[in-house]
Amino acid sequence: MQHQAFAKPGQFYKGNLHTHCTASDGALDAGEVCRRYAEAGYDFLCMSDHFVGLYNYPVTDTTGLRTNRFTTILGAEVHSGRMANGEIWHIVAAGLPLDFAPSGQEDFQPNDSAETPAELARRCAEAGAFVAVAHPEWNGMTPEDARLIEAADAVEIYNHGCHVESDRGYGIAVWDTLLNEGWRVTACATDDAHFRGPDFFGGWVMVKAEANEPGALLAALKAGEYYATTGPEIHDFRIEDGHAVIECSPAERIIAVGQCAASKYDHGTGITRTELPLTGRFERSGWVRAAVQDTAGKRAWSNPIWFD
Ligand SMILES: [Zn+2]
Ligand SMILES: [Zn+2]
Repeated sequence: MQHQAFAKPGQFYKGNLHTHCTASDGALDAGEVCRRYAEAGYDFLCMSDHFVGLYNYPVTDTTGLRTNRFTTILGAEVHSGRMANGEIWHIVAAGLPLDFAPSGQEDFQPNDSAETPAELARRCAEAGAFVAVAHPEWNGMTPEDARLIEAADAVEIYNHGCHVESDRGYGIAVWDTLLNEGWRVTACATDDAHFRGPDFFGGWVMVKAEANEPGALLAALKAGEYYATTGPEIHDFRIEDGHAVIECSPAERIIAVGQCAASKYDHGTGITRTELPLTGRFERSGWVRAAVQDTAGKRAWSNPIWFD
């Protein structure tokens, strides 16, 4: 059984789903942001400006910035409600229409009269968006918080801006908790770039699609046909004869991760392939995912293979 991201036809496209420009609080205009990402070798970008009244509820129109080798997904980072600790919700929605209706959230102050985060996320998903709960570690999201967002496709398990600015870039614990509870939720890595500091080109997704076209990329994202990375490449991930077979760019550690405490690992120098037996705790696990770490400390994460 091969993970669908590797089994399906097409090729991997590199993209950043979480970016800001001068339409909200980013330092650079949309054209310059797209130019820099294209120049850095990205295939696509989602400009995800802060969808609040303060910025006139932007779904930043980047359609005119598409080229024959670089495309854009329209979207926003939407906000509303409050988490258990009082912080306002941040939810990335990649794939919104330009006329997506305002939420009633005027600024970044939690406002209980605005649309609830669950309703807002649902409305984003119904509009066709890939919905990811943003930077769980940065704003102290608990599993109880995350469970409210039933429309979430994904957890943002790496946010480069949060990593470099607050040492809280990850979200793996929230993701694994949801997986342990049976949620079919995937995981993305992003930049959340504002270009006011070194918050760019640090986390991205590799999406398997038949064309570098917004509809194909969104369908693949929503189907989990992608992986998240801060550097390493994952070339294959499959289950064969009771083993997780993982192929990747040269790594120091390749790890199969399963439900609760299940894991198997291979450590070495320049490893590009491993076969890890899915025994022991994996016999009680409903899923397995692949994780890769290189000598520079960069990491990549596949989405799970669910055993049913
Ligand atoms: Zn945010
Ligand atoms: Zn953001």
